[in-house]
Amino acid sequence: MKIVLDAGHGGHDPGAIANGLREKDLTLAIVKHIGKMLEEYEGVEILYTRTDDRFLELSERAAIANKTGADFFLSVHINAGGGTGFESYVHPNANSATIAYQNVIHAEIMKSLGNVNDRGKKRANYAVLRETKMPAILTENLFIDNVNDAVKLKSEQFLQQIIYGHVQGIIKAFGLKKKENSTQTTQKPSDGKLYRVQVGVFSDRKNAERLAEELKKKGYPAVIV
Ligand SMILES: [Zn+2]
Repeated sequence: MKIVLDAGHGGHDPGAIANGLREKDLTLAIVKHIGKMLEEYEGVEILYTRTDDRFLELSERAAIANKTGADFFLSVHINAGGGTGFESYVHPNANSATIAYQNVIHAEIMKSLGNVNDRGKKRANYAVLRETKMPAILTENLFIDNVNDAVKLKSEQFLQQIIYGHVQGIIKAFGLKKKENSTQTTQKPSDGKLYRVQVGVFSDRKNAERLAEELKKKGYPAVIV
């Protein structure tokens, strides 16, 4: 299946800015990681509306998805304007399949985020949701202008939880299966828990050790099991 990932804003449109963070940077980083993880699944083709810091009109984003015959469209944003927590959107005229995907993806993201305010599954007449011809969802991942949310958004660990939640949601919504030759670990970036790097999934122990080392460098405690 073809999945279009849309990092909100970009170029001269930074999106929301507060607490030393820019929405356009966060959305791009999140979307690229989601794509990388989803590429480890069978039959998945990932397309991006942007992979660098550039401006695209909302209509161009939808057009990319429509033109390429995408099966699913995900737009990632960071909220602002007073509030805290996570919310997801579909178009008011979304079909039942889209609503089912929203239910699953929203739930998986909330599960991964843990102690974060659930602002609910919402509907809005946003251009990217209105103009895309396939099931489309937009997520608003915490509030950049809320000090507590911003602290979370500055944490690599928390960003991994956002990424993991989206990936798990999409996997579950579409019943995706991991590629047999996949070497990537998709373990939950858990709250202080150890990453278990299994030797079995790697060609040799050296690779496992390398991955454990990489995880440690990124600040994740890892053990080889
Ligand atoms: Zn936005």
